[in-house]
Amino acid sequence: MSYKAEYIWIDGTEPTAKLRSKTKILADGAEPPVWGFDGSSTNQAEGHASDRVLRPVASFPDPIRGGENLLVLCEVFDTDDDTPHSSNTRALLRPVAERFGGQEPLFGIEQEYTFFKGSRPLGFPENGFPAPQGGYYCGVGADEIYGREIVEAHLENCLRAGLGISGINAEVMPGQWEFQVGPLSPLEVADQLWVARWLLYRTAEDFGVSATLDPKPAKGDWNGAGAHTNFSTRAMREGYDAIITACDALGAEGKPLHHVRNYGTGVEDRLTGAHETAPWDEYSYGVSDRGASVRIPWQVERDKKGYIEDRRPNANCDPYVVTRLLVETCCAELERAGLA
Ligand code: ADP
Ligand code: MN
Ligand code: MN
Ligand code: MN
Repeated sequence: MSYKAEYIWIDGTEPTAKLRSKTKILADGAEPPVWGFDGSSTNQAEGHASDRVLRPVASFPDPIRGGENLLVLCEVFDTDDDTPHSSNTRALLRPVAERFGGQEPLFGIEQEYTFFKGSRPLGFPENGFPAPQGGYYCGVGADEIYGREIVEAHLENCLRAGLGISGINAEVMPGQWEFQVGPLSPLEVADQLWVARWLLYRTAEDFGVSATLDPKPAKGDWNGAGAHTNFSTRAMREGYDAIITACDALGAEGKPLHHVRNYGTGVEDRLTGAHETAPWDEYSYGVSDRGASVRIPWQVERDKKGYIEDRRPNANCDPYVVTRLLVETCCAELERAGLA
């Protein structure tokens, strides 16, 4: 007997990487081995030296195929099998997660996305525009909700894959939705977010619908799509000094631009200061403030402990990069402040 392993990896497409996958048939009970692919077709190699290596890093039950079949998330390496490929941002997160692991960082990421049917967001009429924003967020009813059957199927698939998905909701634009992954450790949340994205595309494919992480999927007076990143360390979960220290660390000289520039392609077009965003070039934080770069949830101020929400990452961000930067910036400062 045999089973199917769907090898999933992140390619080298610029400026925003894409997911790729292909299937390997394995003998029952066999561990997914190292495999290879044609990097010249994924912007990860030149044609004359095209081989790249797929090294499995996490496996999940495959909810699409069911049975013993697996989804196998991989890191990409050069053929010496020792050098992470330049597109392999997971390799950069590994040592940072290990260095600050003692602080027990946790992340919950809110992934917003938009369904498209042809060239229009799902629910946009063939001519003109739908009624303006206002009723769609967490709405109900056929006049407000587009694609719920796909969203439900995706949620079910994530749960069957064993992903730490924590919720879903309809967003402020028709056809726009969100799911949340976490709270989980940096590597876990980023791995599982990438797999949940793959399952989103794969699930919607069967409905003849595409999903996009485009941060500004509709021009005009429509919300963009983000990936609000909720973050805490053990000290932040235990006290308010650590919450404020983390917020201030993110505002230190040079940090705001360093973060924003690595929070996804086109972040300047989304962080305009309108539509529940702060301007990309002005750092701010505040309690309950959805117009700030970083929000301290109201119950965190009340309880004097908990987590913070970085509202800046784009829907199309790389969670390996976003979690690395947050851990590097906040955990280093918490350590200096004796709050590690
Ligand atoms: P919002 O009110 O901004 O829409 P959501 O409910 O969509 O918030 O998402 C909040 C996310 O924060 C969830 O994924 C949740 O699991 C996560 N979260 C909760 N507590 C923590 C914590 N202590 N550290 C990190 N993330 C957390
Ligand atoms: Mn949310
Ligand atoms: Mn949202
Ligand atoms: Mn949020």
